[in-house]
Amino acid sequence: MNNTIAAISTSLGVGAISIIRVSGDDAINIVNKIFKGKDLTKVETHTIHYGYIIDKGEIIDEVLISIMKSPKTFTKEDVVEINSHGGMSTTNKILELLLNNGCRLAEPGEFTKRAFLNGRIDLVEAESIMDIINSKTELTRKMAINGIEGKISGIIKDLRQSIIEVLANIEVNIDYPEYEDAIEYTNELLKEKIKYIKSKLNEILEKSENTKMIKEGITVGIFGRPNVGKSSILNGLLNEDKAIVTNIEGTTRDIVEGSFLFNGIMINLIDTAGIRNTENIVEKIGVEKSKKILNDVDLAMIVLNNNEELTDNDLELLDETKDKNRIIVINKNDLENKLDISRFNKDEIIFTNTINSNGLNELKNKIVEIFNLGKIEEKDLTYLSNARSISILKKCLNKIDDINKAIKEDIPTDIIAIDLKAIWDLLGEITGETYHDELLDELFSKFCLGK
Ligand code: GDP
Repeated sequence: MNNTIAAISTSLGVGAISIIRVSGDDAINIVNKIFKGKDLTKVETHTIHYGYIIDKGEIIDEVLISIMKSPKTFTKEDVVEINSHGGMSTTNKILELLLNNGCRLAEPGEFTKRAFLNGRIDLVEAESIMDIINSKTELTRKMAINGIEGKISGIIKDLRQSIIEVLANIEVNIDYPEYEDAIEYTNELLKEKIKYIKSKLNEILEKSENTKMIKEGITVGIFGRPNVGKSSILNGLLNEDKAIVTNIEGTTRDIVEGSFLFNGIMINLIDTAGIRNTENIVEKIGVEKSKKILNDVDLAMIVLNNNEELTDNDLELLDETKDKNRIIVINKNDLENKLDISRFNKDEIIFTNTINSNGLNELKNKIVEIFNLGKIEEKDLTYLSNARSISILKKCLNKIDDINKAIKEDIPTDIIAIDLKAIWDLLGEITGETYHDELLDELFSKFCLGK
């Protein structure tokens, strides 16, 4: 099977330079066949060479070629990068020549997959590479680079190390009961260790959920009856006229979305059609959508009109959201107060008046307060940020609960150790020390071509 792969690594389109990347045993030989300049098979590693790409004597492009010989390369294989002039036709033509001369087109993420399989990076680092490509904010970039540097992997590896030490000790107790120097692992002793492992897992999980928020942003739904000022609040927060503001009831029929960056976190706003009982079919669809959104959002903003008494619809909405993260926004604060505010918890309410932008900053600060975002420091960015790893951490914590139950029931230590071993295996899946092929296929297929 041909193991030398090639792909265009820069984005397709018009640009000053394109990079075509080749990796594998035959990388240098194949590129040498289509290169006019020095004999690339005889040059030093990590050097750059000027020349031409040729096809049956015809010059295709003027290029610079980087030669990087195994093992000090991204994939740990021989890697050649061709810097050509940008533009679709030249770049595609060079790729075509490489394929005709013995390369195979790389699958998405295949270079990174090889870096993983050849032991250069672990899975957390591979996922962080994808994160850095996709990062949109300064915080997400910092988070991803911490991942690439291996800080997160280090934390997981330390935890695995402390688990393996306990397991080894239990093993010694079983295999060499006469060996007196080994600590005898009673359930009492195990309990202490489990407490420590649980606290570490919880700490990683809590911070990981925070970092997931940094990566994906917070989704905030704006709910309320028609005409209370939802679109005006959305516009005020976004500082632009994205939603149509009118005083005819029921015009915000569709869902308008917009995002803004606050304290480095992306806040994604969803304006909903008024939740109310309606006979109008178009609006009805909007109402149903609103209810679905209510389930999905991280935070609900319930907008009420200061100038009107509470209606049954308001009460229904307040009841539906009582267990959710929510802010009760009392809008039209410039108008006479007719709303009974004594019924609300003071911590939950923010007064606004969108006519002169009153209260909008307080609203933003409240979001930060609810999610503890003010406390996110750079050191906290060293955590797992993807759903895959977070779900593994949760599985580990479930196993910890099983272990604690078993300790209570006085189950023999060596039987309990089976669950502890399972936690050790699960943590290995985060870094890729234990993995299965389907996981790799799924993970790397999300990468772009040429990465
Ligand atoms: P929505 O249906 O809930 O999205 O409400 P809109 O944002 O479309 O606002 C309905 C009407 O209320 C518009 O005429 C707005 O100009 C007006 N409005 C919005 N906010 C305020 C406010 O704080 N004070 C006053 N007096 N009018 C407001």
